[in-house]
Amino acid sequence: MEKIVSLCKRRGFVYPGSEIYGGLNGTWDLGPLGTSLARNIKHEWWKSTVTQRDDVVGLDSSILHHPKVWEASGHIASFTDPLIECKKCHNRFRFGYDPITIYLDKEKGKYWICPTCHENNSGEPRDFNLMFKTSLGSVEETATELYLRPETAQGIFINFLNVINSTRVTIPFGIAQIGKGFRNEITTGNFLFRVREFEMMELEFFVKPGTDSEWFITWKQERLNWYLNLGVNKSKIKLVDLPKEEIAHYSKGTSEIWYDWPFMGWGELEGIANRGDYDLTQHSKHSGKYLVYDDYTPYVIEPSVGVGRAMLAFLVDAYSEVGDRVILKLHPRLAPHKVAVFSLVANKEELVQKAKSLYLSLKSQFPAVWDDRGNIGKRYYAQDEIGTPWCVTVDYQTLEDDTVTVRDRDTAQQERVSISQLDTYFAQKLK
Ligand code: ATP
Repeated sequence: MEKIVSLCKRRGFVYPGSEIYGGLNGTWDLGPLGTSLARNIKHEWWKSTVTQRDDVVGLDSSILHHPKVWEASGHIASFTDPLIECKKCHNRFRFGYDPITIYLDKEKGKYWICPTCHENNSGEPRDFNLMFKTSLGSVEETATELYLRPETAQGIFINFLNVINSTRVTIPFGIAQIGKGFRNEITTGNFLFRVREFEMMELEFFVKPGTDSEWFITWKQERLNWYLNLGVNKSKIKLVDLPKEEIAHYSKGTSEIWYDWPFMGWGELEGIANRGDYDLTQHSKHSGKYLVYDDYTPYVIEPSVGVGRAMLAFLVDAYSEVGDRVILKLHPRLAPHKVAVFSLVANKEELVQKAKSLYLSLKSQFPAVWDDRGNIGKRYYAQDEIGTPWCVTVDYQTLEDDTVTVRDRDTAQQERVSISQLDTYFAQKLK
């Protein structure tokens, strides 16, 4: 992980948030390459979830909702984690996640030992609400207390009727949304894994009760396949059905896609839940609006994943070393740059001209990058490290026969390809 975090900073994927002010815990900023990678992940998700299907439409709801939304959804009452605080150093821990054990002693009763200052503490964990509060309005006394959304899903449920009334969707259908969510996590950490502000990719897929189990199975498989199709190592990812006692009381079933993380072993990458009719029923009750379809309340299947957590999985999965070289074997569709273009030598004007014009023509079709620093070997390694799948070099032979070498990141093999064929060559590979 240290190597990945350092690579991410050095090459401009991810920077610590507010770094020049000493950092802000649980926040990270995406650099130029991280921004491209995240955009590509979102694009692939949107493509497979919305644009390539006939039964899912998109939505982009606001981050701030009416406070009643969170009452109805149950977040005010129960979007909590068990918090335990040391009476001496005041460090806070998430019970069940951080390494805290409660001991039982005949004389002392219940106690626990603070992992930071080793103080003996008594007391049980208390519920800590993870929603960030903010206020609406400029006058403090009359301001309304609001929450930053901890998930995008509720924005979908409250627009259920709007979507039905303004589009031609018929059940089964889904509404998908990508947007920021905020959670005041007790403990953040493991790089992008658990942060306080993150983008989420969520789908609420509405189905007729009775068909929900089938759709649940379908979406579990769809979502697992999405990762596999984007190159995630099959032995590092799996679907896990959670036992009844670990899932929300209203859930008809919850599964998770787990990844074998280097810092904790198997753990959640994405959640997929059969939420039954809980959300629509709750919002019907609280809003007084009848959120139904053909006189029944649909059930909903919800796949939900954080962009950053998915990005971490793709980065960890792609990271490899060959000798002292680092190769980031990102799927070409996720790679920030698809092609790097070089001139074999920098001081031969004719070669540089030719390479530059090829670069501009490729760039009009794919994200391409120009590099003229150092020698050709160093340029290959620099591109390997940021996951660029192909490097194109214009050399002396190019001036004779209009062919270039295309070097493959993963095999280091070079192939001669005619310039006129390059567009189709890459288009085919990116398919
Ligand atoms: P966990 O307990 O693993 O943090 P959760 O069960 O609270 O997650 P859900 O509410 O199911 O998470 O959220 C759906 C998805 O959103 C998660 O699978 C994960 O990909 C992402 N996610 C949730 N919390 C965070 C966070 N604090 N930082 C980054 N991603 C998160």
